Amino acid sequence: MNKCKGFLNVLMILLLVFILAACGQDAGKNVSGSNSGQVEKEIRIGLSVSDLSLERWQHDRDIFVKKAEELGSEVLVQSADGDEAKQLSQIQNMLSQGIDVLVIIPINSDSLTPVVDQAKAEGIPVLAYDRLINNSEVDAYVSFDNIRVGEMQAEYLVNKVPKGKYFLMGGSPTDNNAKMFREGQMNIIQPLVDKGDIEIVGDQWAKNWEANEALKIMENALTANKNQIDAVVASNDNTAGGAIQALSGQNLDGKVAVSGQDADITGVQRIAEGTQSMTVYKPIKTIAEMSAEVAVKLAKGESVQAESSVNNGKMDVPFIKLDPIMVGKENIVDTIIKDGFHSYDEIYKNVPENERPPRL
Ligand code: BGC
Repeated sequence: MNKCKGFLNVLMILLLVFILAACGQDAGKNVSGSNSGQVEKEIRIGLSVSDLSLERWQHDRDIFVKKAEELGSEVLVQSADGDEAKQLSQIQNMLSQGIDVLVIIPINSDSLTPVVDQAKAEGIPVLAYDRLINNSEVDAYVSFDNIRVGEMQAEYLVNKVPKGKYFLMGGSPTDNNAKMFREGQMNIIQPLVDKGDIEIVGDQWAKNWEANEALKIMENALTANKNQIDAVVASNDNTAGGAIQALSGQNLDGKVAVSGQDADITGVQRIAEGTQSMTVYKPIKTIAEMSAEVAVKLAKGESVQAESSVNNGKMDVPFIKLDPIMVGKENIVDTIIKDGFHSYDEIYKNVPENERPPRL
């Protein structure tokens, strides 16, 4: 009898060991990036990008996906290629594929209410990435201080050209950021207009932030003003590129001050070569990694800390506001190169050796 009891005990222990080992295996399969030992489901993030053909968003996508994967998530990425209707249907499609959180870089800040409402009805949190989504229930907004971006663009130009004729090259009229950049620009320029130092000779918005649109707008502006333009307040590097192409058609590149934004490689090269005056560097690593962290928190139902908020017409959205950095010829090395965003050799490849600044 005792012998039989002993045998049963051994059998029980073996069974227990087997069960524990099986659990351990399961946990290993499901928990990524965590050694808590708890069984966690992998988080699926839907990332809807306005237009991946722009250099800026390729950096965002790469860093966001890398960070999200490190945090144990899987990311479904879709580019709407600048097409509003396509963005709506891609988001609907993502929702039907079972995602845990939706991260959107909107093309049109005003047209996403139906899909955001749908996500909310399905209990899926929504994060507005860099651009605000209006009139909907958005859980969080991560972006840079966009009014400050506009102020930096104008500050740099008015320092260089305190008096003269200014042309305003706005971004996409459907992007809420484009309006905030303009607001910031006017904070600096309007007092000088009132004083009579600056005259605004034109004010246009480039559809979808396209360089080609900016090129056409600038060609027309130059013709209309008989080439008498001293500064172009371009809201990003892509549109600055179009404007500078038009200026170069009139041999005016390098003679007219032009602002930009994003520290695109072509923009920074133009600054190094002297045809663009400045850019605003917004460390993409900061926004992309922060957004990945916030997205994972939202998916887990955790609360998100934000010091500011912004009203989107429906509610005060928690706003995680990041600091932009002003970059001109004088501080490329200390900012963009120091951060490893672009390399020295890439930036100065067309600049003669004796005109280059010292390396770090
Ligand atoms: C972003 C800019 C970008 C532009 C075009 C804006 O919403 O803030 O950094 O250049 O979109 O993609």
